[in-house]
Amino acid sequence: WAKDDGGNRFAIFDPQRHRRDVRGFELSAQMPGALARGEFELDYQPLVRFSDDRVVGVEALVRWRQPGGRRLGPDTFIPLAEQTGLIVALGRHVLREACTQARAWLDRAPDAGFHLSVNIAGRQLREPDIVEQVARVLHDTGWPAGSLQLELTESDLMSAGGGPRNALYALAEMGVRIAIDDFGTGYSNLAYLHRLPVHVIKLAGDFVAGDGARTGAPPGRGVDSPVVLAALVELAHTLGLTVVAESVETGEQADRLRRLGCDVGQGWFFGHPAGAGVVGPLLGTRVVQEHDGVA
Ligand code: C2E
Ligand code: MG
Ligand code: MG
Ligand code: MG
Repeated sequence: WAKDDGGNRFAIFDPQRHRRDVRGFELSAQMPGALARGEFELDYQPLVRFSDDRVVGVEALVRWRQPGGRRLGPDTFIPLAEQTGLIVALGRHVLREACTQARAWLDRAPDAGFHLSVNIAGRQLREPDIVEQVARVLHDTGWPAGSLQLELTESDLMSAGGGPRNALYALAEMGVRIAIDDFGTGYSNLAYLHRLPVHVIKLAGDFVAGDGARTGAPPGRGVDSPVVLAALVELAHTLGLTVVAESVETGEQADRLRRLGCDVGQGWFFGHPAGAGVVGPLLGTRVVQEHDGVA
């Protein structure tokens, strides 16, 4: 073990690693109680259509509000929940909560026209009754299947066996849209798409950030270079996919991604993840009044 520690490769006891393990163990043990007490809450981040700058969707992002007031981000506890299996119950809670909230928004603003995106862990997709779980939540909350998008990572999609694949087809049959999350962090391969019902690709920050200077690639040929990005967007469109750019942080990035043909943007430039009270009023509105970058 200790293999990730670079200089300390052969340590048999690594105090830092040990503290991390203990902390992970503690958090894992606390999570079922926290779920029962309602300590997991959702922020929502706007998704903005490049053609008219309108908020056409939100992504639900889970946070853990601990009794002491500390708020933990999902990267600290989702991997643990996947290990312990609690992700199944937590994921069900997230989906129900998000659909309930989205339905309430829709009732207040029937013309807002937006979709709800929810992250689904590979472990959830492997639940034998995942399709029934989703159907039940949609039925109970009254959120339309056609306005729900489920986000799965590239590796979870690629490794999906027969059961999960059938589940994806059944969900798509219901009208649910499937998105590949963090596209570009893994295999960056669209070839497997012909055997999966995928409707959306979400380009990870690496694609979005710069001008082709991503480390390791020859100058101008990194995954975020305009040439590579334009070709990828064109291929995605040819395959009938909607292209979402994640982690859009500046007006310059937004303008470049719009020019390259991306359909939708998400990121701090358009709005940070925030509570339902903050994000609800934005639905359907134009969030960008003027651009910092070149128009
Ligand atoms: P993700 O699904 O790719 O979500 C986007 C992440 O990027 C979020 O981090 C968001 O806060 C962050 N982000 C948004 N705009 C920007 C930006 O402009 N710049 C940068 N640098 N980051 C930005 P967050 O909320 O910490 O979530 C991290 C990951 O945790 C998510 O990545 C998702 O994979 C996972 N996650 C969150 N909620 C859930 C959930 O309910 N279930 C599951 N299974 N996973 C979840
Ligand atoms: Mg996501
Ligand atoms: Mg993502
Ligand atoms: Mg991510």
